[in-house]
Amino acid sequence: KLHNEIQELKGNIRVYCRIRPFLPGQKDKQTTVDYIGENGEIIIVNPSKPGKESRRSFKFNKVYGPRATQAEVYGDIQQLIRSVLDGYNVCIFAYGQTGAGKTYTMSGPDNGSEEDWGVNYRALNDLFKISQISAQNSGLAVPDANMRQVNEPSDVMGVMEIGFKNRARSTTAMNERSSRSHSCLMWICMHSVVTIHVHGTELQTGVSLHGSLHLVDLAGSERIDRSEVIGDRLKEAQHINKSLAALGDVFFSLSQKSVHVPFRNSKLTQVLQSSLGNLLFPSLFCMFSYTFVIAVK
Ligand code: ADP
Ligand code: MG
Repeated sequence: KLHNEIQELKGNIRVYCRIRPFLPGQKDKQTTVDYIGENGEIIIVNPSKPGKESRRSFKFNKVYGPRATQAEVYGDIQQLIRSVLDGYNVCIFAYGQTGAGKTYTMSGPDNGSEEDWGVNYRALNDLFKISQISAQNSGLAVPDANMRQVNEPSDVMGVMEIGFKNRARSTTAMNERSSRSHSCLMWICMHSVVTIHVHGTELQTGVSLHGSLHLVDLAGSERIDRSEVIGDRLKEAQHINKSLAALGDVFFSLSQKSVHVPFRNSKLTQVLQSSLGNLLFPSLFCMFSYTFVIAVK
């Protein structure tokens, strides 16, 4: 059964939309969600826009309402994550404007309990539970990457915490690298990319398998007004925009089934190439300022 599900998911992309609850004091002014359909349709209302323009509808593979739990969201991508152990390359993105709930979805809230855990922790726990993650080198040089050997989920969480601290301070180059790393973790600019390589041997056939999982909490996708940011912040903002644009270009090329896919235009797309490279896109997905969890295989 699992195999069938994997076959069904193979070469596919799914776009899920998660709507977070209102934050305190946010209520009246904001765009609201008017309708969430079982079929993945949502209608949003922006009262500041005139007439027909105030209502827009979008279609996703699935929409999670504000009361959806972390477990519910993870439940829908669990099989995909487990398929990494069968040698598949999987990539999960959270995309959206700052404050949309990307980090909440991927990592969970600060000081949260186990039930608040986001996709990252649940995925790591799952993979470690099922299999012993074994030695693997990524072979890709990423300037700001930090690789550590990990043997259990708490090791990974320790490394991720270091990463988040660095991210909070803006990026600091960390060139420490271990040739014997069991998994590799990297932070690129303000995107957070956790990469796990899984290496194994199929017991019956002796065929070696290599799967990878990228868990990506992209930097905020909002337009940045030049006049509002200066100096290092401006450089950072331009860098973020450039890499998001490069990611968009890659998705576009893939959707057009172009022969040339411009993976080389940014480090982000280079890092993700292994899991994006052999995709067959059913259609180009739209981009929208709520949180997306995009599961790609
Ligand atoms: P982003 O990473 O997209 O900038 P965050 O994940 O930091 O956004 O979320 C912004 C705020 O909204 C945080 O205070 C976070 O705890 C809260 N939040 C986001 N999603 C949810 C959710 N599904 N349920 C409850 N609070 C949420
Ligand atoms: Mg965030």
